[in-house]
Amino acid sequence: MSVKRGIGVSPGVVIGRAVVLDTEETRVPKRTLPTEQLEHESQLVDRTFAAARSEVALERAAFAERAGTELADIFGFHEGWLADPKPRKEIQQLIQEKNYSAAYAISVFMRRYRRRFQEMTSPFLQERAKDILDIEKRLLRHVGAEARQDITELDEQVIVVAHDLTPSQTVMLDRTRRVLGFATDLGGATSHTAIVARGLGIPAVVGLGNLTSLVSGGDTVVIDGTHGVVAINPDASQIEAYKSQAAQQVEVQHALSELRDLPAETKDGVKVTLLGNIEFPEDVEVCLSKGAEGVGLFRSEFLFLQGGAEPSEEEQFQSYRQALELLGGRPLIIRTVDLGADKLFPGRQAEPEQNPFLGLRSIRLCLQNLPFFRAQLRAIMRASNHGNVGIMFPLITQITELRQARYMLNLVTEELEEEGYEFRYKAPVGIMVETPAAALCARELAREVDFFSIGTNDLIQYTLAVDRTNEKVATLYNGLNPAVVKLLKMVVDAAISEKIDVSMCGEMAADPICTMLLLGMGLRKFSMVSGSIPSTKRMIRSIAMTDANRVATRALQFETEREVMNYLREETRKILPDVV
Ligand code: PEP
Ligand code: MG
Repeated sequence: MSVKRGIGVSPGVVIGRAVVLDTEETRVPKRTLPTEQLEHESQLVDRTFAAARSEVALERAAFAERAGTELADIFGFHEGWLADPKPRKEIQQLIQEKNYSAAYAISVFMRRYRRRFQEMTSPFLQERAKDILDIEKRLLRHVGAEARQDITELDEQVIVVAHDLTPSQTVMLDRTRRVLGFATDLGGATSHTAIVARGLGIPAVVGLGNLTSLVSGGDTVVIDGTHGVVAINPDASQIEAYKSQAAQQVEVQHALSELRDLPAETKDGVKVTLLGNIEFPEDVEVCLSKGAEGVGLFRSEFLFLQGGAEPSEEEQFQSYRQALELLGGRPLIIRTVDLGADKLFPGRQAEPEQNPFLGLRSIRLCLQNLPFFRAQLRAIMRASNHGNVGIMFPLITQITELRQARYMLNLVTEELEEEGYEFRYKAPVGIMVETPAAALCARELAREVDFFSIGTNDLIQYTLAVDRTNEKVATLYNGLNPAVVKLLKMVVDAAISEKIDVSMCGEMAADPICTMLLLGMGLRKFSMVSGSIPSTKRMIRSIAMTDANRVATRALQFETEREVMNYLREETRKILPDVV
């Protein structure tokens, strides 16, 4: 067995066969063949390369006619590569030594070869990895139509291993109901892929470095999302040990489910509201089953990320209405689309940006695409008649953005009124406080909104200048850095003094070592993935406010994140030793 450590982002232990995905969500099944067939497979490799090469030559000629020979030279690399006998030889060697089918040998070789380019420091050579992927696709197409199998056609449950997954790929894969767990080379704990896996309750480990070059399709893989570990090809006794760990975790979940109907209140009776974060309307049911009192964050952009066409105003309206009806009068905070950065909408992808997290994302994207924004606001307002809806604008960095967004909302309400729609005029309007700029101006912003929701996932990355999706700097991404803790306190203080509602919907809200600190700062509303609600409730019910207040006061005085972390760990351990 070999073991790789990464970042555990969604708890639980699962064991299964690996499927290694390339960027197209497809796989080449691992097939080994009897020795007498190997010569045939080797010849197939020669024929495949020859066919791919003549196809490139034809494309090159056709392109040269339209665009000139200079531009057509971009095909030169492909042609040259396909003509080189070395790659072919290495693929044929894999066939002879490992009895692989031609398709599988090509896919194994190309994956390793591509990885070598991806790991190069020169951006020019890194770019070549895309050409290699292109060539791989071409070769696999020629090696036989059945070589590639779509993941959605799987008939068994699998562990998905990928270099990286986008949030939308993660959602789409889950739709197959065949995915036991995820493991990726890239990614950080609050990348959207990690959040989605957590929301789906699928164990996941990210930031594993070169896992995809260590695992082949068909290997037995264990994902321990609780401890951030992936084990490759464990033996029978190791599998047994992992199975009993998995069974123990199921028992813990079962014990926690008994808290479902008990109130989320501290030992001394201070009431706390626990809400769920959702990506799709149907997630409401799971939230309620875990004891959520409503939804504090509907990441509405996922309606745009699930593939197919952009949802129309009517389709959006149906989704919001469905969520509101399922909630039966409980609150639903719909965040207007937060696309951009790592959540890219395929149909509207512009030129790739140098720094997408600092680029055209979120409210900025909406304010530059007013018809698109207007359609969403209309859908939300039309749905407002069907329940208790709140509207939240993400990534606000200055008050003028908020005013522009509100202006659009006013226009939309006037329009709907003229058109004779019934809606709730006074739906609460709030913002995500997820940039240092918003936190620093929280008092001024608080005067113009009904509520704040603190988005620690982004607030941490922007305060500390640490990309939340980059595993190379994952150890620097820490919400207990004193700079972040001070900003959190400022936001909560501003909301309390301006008498507006404040909640937290970033992942920090579900971190048990932060619960006392947040309660002690004055936070009374927490929104999180539904799976974390029962354990957070257990934590809250074990805390006395006198302790929480003392802990928050002390934690705010430390100079380093290590001191804050150690202190909070120690204090949490005194209350519930098993959670830290
Ligand atoms: C956040 O930034 O904390 C947040 C909740 O929003 P998202 O994770 O979707 O960016
Ligand atoms: Mg955010």
